[in-house]
Amino acid sequence: MREPRDSFLSLPFTRPWEKTNYGKASRDVTGSSIVKEAHDCSGARAGYRTAAGRLHNPNHSKSPPRPFNQSSKVNMGGERFNPSSSAYPTHSFAPNPSFPKIHNLDIDHLRAFTANGGQFEDCNLPAMMYDFRSDEEKYIELEVWSAPFVGVGRERESRPSFDEAMKRAEWRKARKGERFGPSWSTHWFRITLRNLDQILRHPAADQHLELHFDCEGEGAVFTPEGLMLQGLTGGGGGDRRVEFILPEAWWSSSSSPTSTERIIYIEAAMNGMFGVPCGDQISPPDPNRYFELRTADIVVPNMTAWRLFWDYTIIADCARELGGWEGEKALGVATKILGTFRRGKKECLEECREVAREFLGGGVDGAEVYRGEGKGEPLVFGIGHCHIDTAWLWPFAETRRKIARSWSTQIDLIKRYPEHRFTASSAQQYAWLKEDHSSPGGLYHHLRETIHSGAFTPIGGTWVECDTNMPSGESLCRQFLLGQRFFEKEFGIRCKVFWLPDTFGYSSQLPQLCRLSGMKYFFTQKLSWNNINKFVYTSFNWVGIDGSQVLCHMTPSETYNAQAHVGDLIRSVTQHKNKGEDPSSLLVFGNGDGGGGPLAQMLEKLRRCRGVSDTVGRLPRVSMGGSVDQFYERLEKRTEEGKTLPNWVGELYFELHRGTYTSQAKTKKGNRLSEFLLRDVEFFASLATIYDSKYEYPKKEIDECWQMICLCQFHDVLPGSAIEMVFDDAAAFHAQIWDRGQRMLASAFKVLGMSSHPSKHTPLAGVSTVAWPRTEVVEVEEEIATSVDKSVVFEQQSGKKYVVLSTESTGVSKVEKKEVQQKGITKEVTVEEVEKGIFVLNNGVLRVKVENGHVTSLYDVEMDREVVAKDGKAGRYVIYDDQPLYWDAWDVEVYHLTGPRTYLDECKTTIVEEGPLRASLLVESKISEHSWIKTTISLDAVLSGADYTHKTTFEKALPMLSFDVEVEWQESRSFLKVEFPTDILCDTASYETQFGINKRPTHFNTSWDAAKFEVVCHKWADLSEHGYGLSILNDSKYGFATHGSTMRLSLLRSPKAPDAHADMGRHHFRYAMLPHRGSISQAAVVRAGYNFNNPLRLRYVPVQDEKFDSLKDLLKSIWIEGADNVVLDTIKRAEDDTDVVVAAGHRPTSCSGTKNKSIVLRLYEAYGGKTKVKVVTTLPVVKATEVNLLEDEITVLDHKRARMDHVTSVAVDFPMGAPEPPCPTFRFFASGFVMILITFFCAIFGFRNGHPLRCLKAKPDITKRE
Ligand SMILES: [Zn+2]
Repeated sequence: MREPRDSFLSLPFTRPWEKTNYGKASRDVTGSSIVKEAHDCSGARAGYRTAAGRLHNPNHSKSPPRPFNQSSKVNMGGERFNPSSSAYPTHSFAPNPSFPKIHNLDIDHLRAFTANGGQFEDCNLPAMMYDFRSDEEKYIELEVWSAPFVGVGRERESRPSFDEAMKRAEWRKARKGERFGPSWSTHWFRITLRNLDQILRHPAADQHLELHFDCEGEGAVFTPEGLMLQGLTGGGGGDRRVEFILPEAWWSSSSSPTSTERIIYIEAAMNGMFGVPCGDQISPPDPNRYFELRTADIVVPNMTAWRLFWDYTIIADCARELGGWEGEKALGVATKILGTFRRGKKECLEECREVAREFLGGGVDGAEVYRGEGKGEPLVFGIGHCHIDTAWLWPFAETRRKIARSWSTQIDLIKRYPEHRFTASSAQQYAWLKEDHSSPGGLYHHLRETIHSGAFTPIGGTWVECDTNMPSGESLCRQFLLGQRFFEKEFGIRCKVFWLPDTFGYSSQLPQLCRLSGMKYFFTQKLSWNNINKFVYTSFNWVGIDGSQVLCHMTPSETYNAQAHVGDLIRSVTQHKNKGEDPSSLLVFGNGDGGGGPLAQMLEKLRRCRGVSDTVGRLPRVSMGGSVDQFYERLEKRTEEGKTLPNWVGELYFELHRGTYTSQAKTKKGNRLSEFLLRDVEFFASLATIYDSKYEYPKKEIDECWQMICLCQFHDVLPGSAIEMVFDDAAAFHAQIWDRGQRMLASAFKVLGMSSHPSKHTPLAGVSTVAWPRTEVVEVEEEIATSVDKSVVFEQQSGKKYVVLSTESTGVSKVEKKEVQQKGITKEVTVEEVEKGIFVLNNGVLRVKVENGHVTSLYDVEMDREVVAKDGKAGRYVIYDDQPLYWDAWDVEVYHLTGPRTYLDECKTTIVEEGPLRASLLVESKISEHSWIKTTISLDAVLSGADYTHKTTFEKALPMLSFDVEVEWQESRSFLKVEFPTDILCDTASYETQFGINKRPTHFNTSWDAAKFEVVCHKWADLSEHGYGLSILNDSKYGFATHGSTMRLSLLRSPKAPDAHADMGRHHFRYAMLPHRGSISQAAVVRAGYNFNNPLRLRYVPVQDEKFDSLKDLLKSIWIEGADNVVLDTIKRAEDDTDVVVAAGHRPTSCSGTKNKSIVLRLYEAYGGKTKVKVVTTLPVVKATEVNLLEDEITVLDHKRARMDHVTSVAVDFPMGAPEPPCPTFRFFASGFVMILITFFCAIFGFRNGHPLRCLKAKPDITKRE
């Protein structure tokens, strides 16, 4: 999304580095008196100083008026006193009146000179900026072909490629003033240019020809061969870019004497840079917008006028913004230019420029200005950028074209401005460009060349600029793995800077992930949008939950779309929060979102700013030509590798856009489901490759699915802040992932001998992919129930059927006969209506009272402990009035907590399941005429195997009370939450994040605490006091709040912009209350979160023959021992194995790994403590290696093959404190054909009672197993 442009506030500007310029300034005081003199004679042309400093006045060359200070007398500066005071006139005889300066009038007067439009345009500079303009057919002829618009939902079909367009086009004449549409349609123009050489024969014409084309929307210029040359942005505003400079070869008679005609093509898109909003910027799209072809002209600009325009713009900016004597001097010079200017007289333009040099110095017309000498070192490092949202107010399909338009523009600009360096992130965007423009000599070829020249730098290292609040740990790993590997493969580079200027908050796990991905630098600016607290640092060490740190810089100009104004440079100093450590900063300039990046005029303005710094001083010196990497390397060096910088520990919580944890519930659910599905696909597919050498690992499909998951995690998609078309696309991606994932699972299952179809010899079994034992009541679908032996399925009175399933670690276990299952049931569950409307569910461990649909008591029988607050109603729905200040889909504001709210207390409760395995109540609530909620509250029987305490260090696990919810939601600006008032007191609550836990306050002591009134969680949030706690689990939600002892899970919002239909319709989700004994670290909440999101699967397996044993052995062939706080999160095949490389559709290279089959294991310490863990496998390991996220081998580890049990083990130590180098990860090679790679993470913990974070980090320590 795009940031607002705030107005510049002029701030006091007294820093040590400026003082040196004051000294310099005193030498220029006489210059300012010359300015005055020029005014005194301004009845005609004003005088000006030549480059050599000599005073020159064409109208008064004989005897220029005497400057005031020529009658020198004594002054405090010690100048000589002239005693002949009688020479001084008794009153002024000057031909023009002299009067006190009226500052505001003088300043306001400056604007008209360069104002485009307005009543005085014809008297000022804009009237002289073009020497020639024509739309006559003898110079330019227009034809058009309108691509058939096939409508929303078929985005790419409506946007034919150049080749398709040329094949299908049926051209007709077009004319200026014609209107084109509807919204999102595409129109191809064929433009014939003629007689260009004749235009330039005009003696006044600069040898510079442009085509100006403005169809109000976005466009791109193509050669007849299909090479995109440049993007166009029509309409008004600072993003406007309608000029295409015709290459000299097209009109120069010397280069093509016979050429009289040139054909070019323009692809015109009927959408603006920000889509087609029907009202203000974030309004939903207007589907029926038409655009006018306003301009299609051949133009000869007057380049001297343009250069004067840029000169004057900077000087006038300085007059307005610098203050001090330098500001006065700028005002004087600008006023002198006004006095020198003569309407319609071209010869005055160069004279005006000469005046401008008094303030700018010479050399501003070229890059050599950056070699100029000035006082002090450069403080501001400029880098061109074009932040292109991968989807936002336009669909993904339009982004593909925005990228090509913007980058082709920059590749061209780089050729004309040698100091220009441009950077762009997101491997996905490069991949799209490759797909769309990779013909020989095409745009992708030019991009590669420009990258190799060093002028265009990929940055960021991730697949997209993703949200970092909600993606799972593994998803973030894949963002880096896909991103860095793409950049390496395509361009031979790895990014060093993690670049996320616009993402809505930064997870405390990012520093560790960055370091594991080869990056130690991080860039953002988004926290400048905080609406409660101002963030305290500009350059600092950002320390993650494990102690890893990255060098973070947040540009003090507080934008990634800087316009290269004088104000941007001033803000780079005034808003720098810790100049004391190092005052340098990045200036990220250029129009984003398809605006094409920097305009030529930005580069021209920066040259002039540098000229001001070196001539007058005051303005910080800007440096160009360096990369972002170089800026960070310099900063690192100057701060003694960050040692002199302050630290910020933990998440970079963004104090805005808190509604994005909840908006667009279906996209969030699609994300969670996809993440868990891919986890299982990779688990089974990896093992299947070991089980059957003929089975091909579906690497290409897995990659494509991960690419889609990562794409949908873009920072306006997963957060829910885009238009409806984007979420339709995201739903289609998630549906595709689901279908392909299920197919991949089915094919892996087939290889492993498991089936989803019953047969005589393949009885029912349960399958688990989590590395710990679990025992659960599992509902059996009717189709399966009818196919299996009745002796294994329990049927309750309601007709619903269940089995009790136990699995050990990852693996498979058959469904036993009911008598055997029965033995595992410790206590059955019952339900009864004890009074009208009051129900009690009881399994002997928990006794739950439900009154009027709310849980008024959740009682731990053995502990004699009530969980629900006295008179509290847990599971109660509350609907808040939800009207943020502006950003509708993005924001929920703090005042929603004190504003109007409605509790859904009217409901009907009925018993739907009566036990003995599961007891359930159905609670039906009406929200409004069109909206309702049906909640099924269930408690299961107590199962002996469900207790995690068996051979673990966890407290005894308790049953959970689960809520299965169906909602029909047709509301407006309402926020649905479910609340849980508890009888638990603690000043912090715990929230799961990627591979760890964040602790956040439950109080509003300070404004920093209050700002976190709505926060993000993953699979669970927890409130615990000494000895007892309550976790709230969820299957697809991310928003949460704990205020005092009340926990609230955020369920649904109903914003109306930019998607008018956001979240309308039917939703289905689950959550659960899980009470636990002991503190959070003593409870198996992390495991419960996995189980809740990854239900046991029922499959038919060959349990009767020896195949079952081998299958069973294989599925539980990798496990961990000795540390319950370590989670085996991911099992996948290694990227570089030859068979995997081939399966991905690539040719293996000499360095692409091994013929062995390797398996990557990703483990993390989940609670934040020192730990030793043993990774054990029955696979024949030949080698174990530490690897990072990119699967680079770091260290070969020792491993021990035990003779007795034929297992291999590697022991790993998770010590506290961040070791160097950053974070270790591991890799195993296995004998013969199996290799295992292990990635270890450690998680952390947050703050407790204000004490600093304790950090820990994985470090491998191989303990030989005796
Ligand atoms: Zn953005």
